[in-house]
Amino acid sequence: MSKSKSLETVKVVVRCRPMNEKERAAKFEKVVSVDVKLGQILVRNPREAAANELPKVFTFDSVYDWNSKQIDLYDETFRPLVDSVLLGFNGTIFAYGQTGTGKTYTMEGVRNDPERRGVIPNSFEHVFTHISRSQNQQYLVRASYLEIYQEEIKDLLSKDQTRRLELRERPDTGVYVKDLSSFVTKSVREIEHVMNVGNQNRSVGATNMNEHSSRSHAIFVITVECSELGVDGENHIRVGKLNLVDLAGSERQTKTGAQGERLKEATKINLSLSALGNVISSLVDGRSSHIPYRDSKLTRLLQDSLGGNARTVMVANIGPASYNLEETLTTLRYSNRAK
Ligand code: ADP
Ligand code: MG
Repeated sequence: MSKSKSLETVKVVVRCRPMNEKERAAKFEKVVSVDVKLGQILVRNPREAAANELPKVFTFDSVYDWNSKQIDLYDETFRPLVDSVLLGFNGTIFAYGQTGTGKTYTMEGVRNDPERRGVIPNSFEHVFTHISRSQNQQYLVRASYLEIYQEEIKDLLSKDQTRRLELRERPDTGVYVKDLSSFVTKSVREIEHVMNVGNQNRSVGATNMNEHSSRSHAIFVITVECSELGVDGENHIRVGKLNLVDLAGSERQTKTGAQGERLKEATKINLSLSALGNVISSLVDGRSSHIPYRDSKLTRLLQDSLGGNARTVMVANIGPASYNLEETLTTLRYSNRAK
């Protein structure tokens, strides 16, 4: 069956962040071990270990431990996807995981530090280096930046940050966000500027930025159009789209005693994450003819970049400490199902 073919188009990797200052100071036990060679994550529940139970083992396409370098993730896992975008295919990179496990570190990282910058700035370098070396092609790079919060779409590059955008569908172009702005960028500096503007707008209207970013999905979209004179003497145009997605925190918000607005919001966050899990697992499974894209804004919006000829990488981020055990297992099960 198409299992192995689908495995090439959907990759799931796990990254475990280091213990932080607080966790070390509080001497939290490390319950996660990472077997890079076997692609396995082992989780040991101290109580079960005391009863001589074996650790739980999860296998993925690749796994990264607390010493993993941003550039290694980029070269091994993200670069091939971005290369395919430069060839005119669509691709999507997701960072999934509980708040505080390194989603934003993986996506953006520390931008001014070449060693610690994440996949978004690394992809900027990659794309513009590729373009500067090309000889017979002309490129046009455009950037958009949007956010989904409570199943509502906001254009992070628009002057009017109160406006909500609609999803539309056309037989020729498929699903798109009506009136979403996009900016032509000619250099790393220009596209970085676009990202900075969007990041600033992300916090507009949010009373607590941390809370807001843990409840919303941020999607940075790079469209690369390439035109090339073919042997037939005609110009040929290829368009590839790269979606870079920092997902809302996967922690179970309904468990925290949320009520009213909060509960409604929590249900919506869980809805799009579970819809995404369903879409990815049915793509990987390769057997179901129906892929449930329509179940959430996120999956509808990304429909043309998930499945088909598109490539997807899901990075599941986890923390190593014992107090995160339950959320870590939930993330690993979610990602294992997506695999
Ligand atoms: P999230 O976006 O999932 O809420 P963050 O990316 O903000 O989490 O990470 C939480 C903290 O942990 C940040 O201070 C971040 O710099 C740090 N961190 C996360 N992953 C790593 C890593 N792999 N190496 C070093 N520090 C990390
Ligand atoms: Mg974050």
